[in-house]
Amino acid sequence: MLWVKAARSAKGPSLNPNILSQVRIPLLGGLVEADLFAFAGLADAKEHIALGLGEWRQTPSPLVRLHSECLTGDVFGSAKCDCGPQLREALQRCAVEGGLVLYMRQEGRGIGLYNKLAAYALQEGGLDTFEANHAMNFPDDLRDYAPAAQMLQALGVKSVRLLSNNPEKTRQLEKWGVVVEERVSTGVFANVHNARYLHSKALKSGHHLALNELEAYLMAENDLAANGLKKPRKP
Ligand SMILES: [Zn+2]
Repeated sequence: MLWVKAARSAKGPSLNPNILSQVRIPLLGGLVEADLFAFAGLADAKEHIALGLGEWRQTPSPLVRLHSECLTGDVFGSAKCDCGPQLREALQRCAVEGGLVLYMRQEGRGIGLYNKLAAYALQEGGLDTFEANHAMNFPDDLRDYAPAAQMLQALGVKSVRLLSNNPEKTRQLEKWGVVVEERVSTGVFANVHNARYLHSKALKSGHHLALNELEAYLMAENDLAANGLKKPRKP
């Protein structure tokens, strides 16, 4: 396959991903059950996992969500981003429709947890999420989805319905030889804390998000600031 050749040439001769272990775990307080897969031979040697939910094996093109680890959002329920609600939506939809959540260990769009927290501090000073990355000499997005394609290959999944608003994920998966039969939009989980972040993503990285809805939240954020209920942003 195309992607195996490319991965080998990029990272060395011995990349042949396979399933290392599999275990069933009840999630979301027992609401759904998932088979968690661990892998050997992934391109970046990180501990990415795949979660298989519902009848994904019997589905020709299972629903697939590539979810990048976000400790603050996934675990602590941070309202600065939409990761937590998106992860729960993906687990529930995959359980119903038959699908896989690929949980990618690439925190902060690949810059790591501490750098993400430093970028948040810069955003408090008025930069948007991309400007903050640039101020720290990082590109917009360091994420590489080659290991996601490898996990799908190890699981025998050649074609997917991709649950994502991010066109870059489609582009990368197709580059690695995965057929993206359909892009399925995720919900937009906006609030007054994350609207500016989502608005930047829509404008600067082409995420498919409803700008008018986000702008309503930005106006609400301005109202809160005007009434002294939220720290005003520096212009
Ligand atoms: Zn997040």
